[in-house]
Order: sequence, then C-alpha cells, then structure tokens
Amino acid sequence: MLSVEEAQEKILSRIEPLAPIELPLADAFGCVLAEDLRATTDLPAFPSSAMDGFAVRAAEVGGAGESSPVLLRVVGSAEIGKKPQGVVGPGEAMRIATGAPIPVGADAVVPVEEARATEDGVEVLRSAPAGRHLRPAGEDARMGEVLVPAGRRIGAPELGLLASAGLPRLPVHPRPRVVVVSTGDELVEPGRPLAFGQIHESNGYTLVGCLKEAGAQSSLAGTVPDDPEKLMEEVVSHLATADVFISTGGVSVGERDPVKAAFRDRGQVVFYRAAMQPGMPQAFGIIDGKPFFGLPGNPVSVFVSFEVLVRPALMKMMSRRELFRPQVTARLDGKVPGKHDKTVFARVRVKRSGGGWTATPTGGRGSNLMSTVVRANGLAIVPAGVTSLPAGAECRVTMFRSLEE
Ligand code: AMP
Ligand code: MG
Repeated sequence: MLSVEEAQEKILSRIEPLAPIELPLADAFGCVLAEDLRATTDLPAFPSSAMDGFAVRAAEVGGAGESSPVLLRVVGSAEIGKKPQGVVGPGEAMRIATGAPIPVGADAVVPVEEARATEDGVEVLRSAPAGRHLRPAGEDARMGEVLVPAGRRIGAPELGLLASAGLPRLPVHPRPRVVVVSTGDELVEPGRPLAFGQIHESNGYTLVGCLKEAGAQSSLAGTVPDDPEKLMEEVVSHLATADVFISTGGVSVGERDPVKAAFRDRGQVVFYRAAMQPGMPQAFGIIDGKPFFGLPGNPVSVFVSFEVLVRPALMKMMSRRELFRPQVTARLDGKVPGKHDKTVFARVRVKRSGGGWTATPTGGRGSNLMSTVVRANGLAIVPAGVTSLPAGAECRVTMFRSLEE
C-alpha cells in the first residue's frame, strides 16, 4: 500500500499544466493567466473630468470665493465620448460633463455647485488648484505596466481591468475536459424504474458536481456494463476530445471487475491501494497521453478519492498555485475512529465556535452512506496509526465547501 502522500506525489509527478490557449474574456473567468499582460496605452488614455461643471485654468481662479467670484467667458461644451472643440484660453471656461475629456488649456474642473451661471459666462465661487476634479491619464496604469501577472487566476476585477485595457481574449490554461464513465451491470439511469437488485447510477453525477466545482469541464459518457471490451471502446472513443478520464467501479480484483482487464495491457495504468478510508482501491495511469483515474464504486469512496487524489491533479493541469483545499484545526465534539494502517477521512460538519472551530461527525462510516457527506462540509483527517480521536481532541479538517453552504 502507498501512503496518501505517496499516492498524491506519484500522481502529481505525471501531471503537467495544460498548454495555454486564448479564450474570449468571459470564458477565461476562473482560469489561470499564462502570461503577464501589460497595458498598451495609459489607463485611462486621456485626462477627463470627475464632475459636471466647468473646465478652467487653475491659475485664474486661485483667488475665487463667495464674496470674490471670478467671472469667466464660457466658450463651449466638452462632451462625453467626443474630442473637445476649441481650447480654454485666458479668461475662459468650458462646460464639461463627468467623464468628458479635458479640453486643451484647462487644468482643473469647478463643479456646478461651486459656480453661478451669468448671462454670458460663469462666476466661479471657489478656488480650484491645478488637477482638481480631474482624472489624469495613466492614473490606473501606465503604458507598459503589468496589469495582471502570469499565474493569477482571472476573477471579476481582473476581467474588468483587462476589458478596460481593450483585450478581447486572454492567454490562459484551459479547463481540463474530463470524461466520466460509470461501470456496473447493476446501474440504471435516474428516471428509469429499477428491477430488483438494481440501483440508480449516482457516481457520475457526484463527479459532475465535483468537476464543476473544481473548474473543470465534465462530460458524462454514461454507464458501461462490466465488460472490459465495452469499457475500453468507450474510453477510446473519447481519446481525441478528453484531457482526463475518470471511471468508477470495477477497480477491485473481482471476477467481473472490468478496469484491470481493460487496461492491463494498454498504456501504463498501474493499480495501487492508497492507504485511505474511504477510497480504496484505485487505479491511475496514462492512456495515450491522457491521465486515467480508476475510482472505486462506492459513492463515498468516489467523493473522497476525487477530493484527495483527482482534484489536486486537476488543479495542477489548470496551473493553479494552490493544489490542495484549505484546512482548519478544529476541536472534535464526537469520537472519530482511526485505522492502524490507513489515513481515515471522517465526514464532519465544521462550525465556528468562539475564536476557533468545532467539528461534529455526521454519521456512519459506511462508504455507501452519501447522506453523511451531504450533511458534512469537511473531512477530518485521522492519520494512519491513530486508532481513535476522542471527543475534545484537535484535528485537521480539509474543508470541501464554504461555511455558508
Ligand atoms: P464496485 O467497486 O464496482 O464493486 O462497486 C462497489 C459498490 O458501489 C457496489 O455496491 C456498486 O453497486 C456501487 N456502485 C458502483 N458504481 C456505482 C455508481 N455509478 N453509482 C452508484 N453506486 C455504484
Ligand atoms: Mg461494479
């Protein structure tokens, strides 16, 4: 058996970030930027007004006040989206709207509230130093400056800044396209009636959720029977369009388990047991250059082995800086059994309490009990060799969803 860390290392050592591609702005959301992106002009590109008012020459209104208004001739109007017509000469002002370019000659804006219109001009009622209510060119970013560095994940602010810099497409590491195949003669699609002994296919849907949450693209190939040929055919039919494969079920050594029989002779699929509970056994390998994860069939094992073994690999393919989930140290408010030879991932509900965290076990250990995962938001880690953690003990918890959810 491999330790969990050894299994993670073994997998990650075979995974590379996906080659960058150019995606339209909106599609790049959530992806990691592959290059430094620099401003090709000053941002903003031209000085503009921050107020509705009058563009003036600051030196001329230095002495303005309520009792000493400065009278200026109004020589036109600077509008948004247009080049100002004419210049502001000595003794002159130009009407200006918020966001409109500052006309040549002016170097400050007097807001309407600090001015009084007269028949042929405007009285300025308050002094304005140079630069007042004026948004200078290059204030947000200078031409040539890095707007967003390589390695940064594109979020809403990054999209906004890069769009304002006029970039329609971004070089990013794409989302892996992951094909999910469920194996099992007993499986029936949700919505179809069950004959005695059959069960509804659920692992595929768990994985669709896991993949969406991770930021990958999922594609459900559906169910294949316990037949190595059929499994192989299904996988091969997606080789051209998939970046990763995940199968569930049929990975043990049982007579009818198809994964081993299908891939023993193809690619370099290795079968191993990562010493964890739930989540054993597993298969991993590269088929024609594409990583293949064979997860066990039990629903909780699927979820936990995705979290522990697959998700970090997908994060690496997306070139994410942090491959692992955040962890907290929490105080257990119930006993959690461990195993002498395996890391146990116990389903817990973490809550804030006082300055720290409390973790409550959410129920039975059975790897078929999906409701225990539904009630949980974290996996408490009981290291191999620790036979049990008593109530009141501190433990590390990997959080798989945020506290509000
Ligand atoms: P296996 O690893 O194929 O022996 O499956 C272990 C257990 O998980 C069995 O009880 C299966 O019926 C169940 N199982 C396997 N695949 C699925 C699936 N896609 N959805 C729900 N349960 C499954
Ligand atoms: Mg099976």
